[in-house]
Amino acid sequence: MENHRDVVIIGAGSAGLTAGIVLARAQADVLVIEDGKPRNAPAAHMHGFVSRDGVAPAEFLATGRTEVARYGGELTQARVVDAARGDGEEGFVVALDTGAVVRTRAVLVATGLTDELPELAGIRELWGSAVHHCPHCHGYEVRGQELVVIGGPVAAMTLHQAALLRRYSDRVTLCPNGMEVSDVDRGRLRAWGVRIVDDTVARVIGDNGRLSGVEFTDGSVQHCDSVFIAPLPRPNDAVLRSLGCASDPATGRVAVDAAGATSVPGVWAAGNVTNPRAQVITAAGEASAAAIAMTAWLLEQDIATAAERDIATAAEQAGTETRGEGR
Ligand SMILES: Cc1cc2nc3c(=O)[nH]c(=O)nc-3n(C[C@H](O)[C@H](O)[C@H](O)COP(=O)(O)OP(=O)(O)OC[C@H]3O[C@@H](n4cnc5c(N)ncnc54)[C@H](O)[C@@H]3O)c2cc1C
Repeated sequence: MENHRDVVIIGAGSAGLTAGIVLARAQADVLVIEDGKPRNAPAAHMHGFVSRDGVAPAEFLATGRTEVARYGGELTQARVVDAARGDGEEGFVVALDTGAVVRTRAVLVATGLTDELPELAGIRELWGSAVHHCPHCHGYEVRGQELVVIGGPVAAMTLHQAALLRRYSDRVTLCPNGMEVSDVDRGRLRAWGVRIVDDTVARVIGDNGRLSGVEFTDGSVQHCDSVFIAPLPRPNDAVLRSLGCASDPATGRVAVDAAGATSVPGVWAAGNVTNPRAQVITAAGEASAAAIAMTAWLLEQDIATAAERDIATAAEQAGTETRGEGR
């Protein structure tokens, strides 16, 4: 059993590290636990974060880890396998795959999400290099290219991708690949200049991070430079679930308030684990808000404990004096 921490942060992506810096600077005793699989690791560079635009994700995170450590935050490489309330409902107990167990007053879960890719040959190998999901992240880099959008389980996002990518290129093809596209949507996309090809895609062809095209089941090939897909976002929320955090009935995701507080007092969440739309900068912003709320929560606990101690001391003194007078 390790020391009792003020805060355990689970996950050291943009969200976890930002919270680590804010909490460590606020003099909290912080441990960041990280198993080293950030969502954007397959990408060579990240975009849309002011002053950090174009930096490699690994470099961004390495800088963040250094900043957390500079303020006294501790980082450890491990996977959290369980978390539960402590005895007598006081604080939490976090179990690591190393066998270590950490007690903490509060928990911030920043474990991100897993992109569930469609079962299509070639996609996995080229994910993050020539197969993308976010025009805001990588659309600018592929502007003017021959682009193919392949349909999948998240139809609304696929249709939006196809339309949005026309801002970047006048050579955009949508292959619904079995995904239903209404006549209205077909009409809208065609009017906007998106080509629609209903042939079934067999595989994406490419090598060493470079794409050469999309092959259909009849053997024909359409040349393209980049492919976009909409993976199913699966929140990495097992820890939040095991802590008993309530879901938002509208989305099915773990519910948080504007500062990331869950339904369980002492448990916060930030970034992709509760918000699949969060970009790197959004995840950082959510985590900063959560860290500030956590600091206030810890402060209130400390003041309440100090006040209780004062009352107990005063009562003890009063008792001593009364007993003295009685003699
Ligand atoms: C290919 C790709 C490219 C992208 N490019 C951009 C871009 O250019 N710009 C942009 O703004 N966004 C981009 N994104 C989105 C970006 O990845 C997310 O916005 C960002 O990673 C969210 O940060 P996060 O901290 O919530 O999650 P993450 O960065 O995924 O961090 C979560 C961390 O928690 C760890 N973890 C999970 N479970 C556990 C556990 N049980 N125990 C310990 N640790 C755990 C994971 O290993 C991971 O390191 C891209 C996404 C992808 C897939």
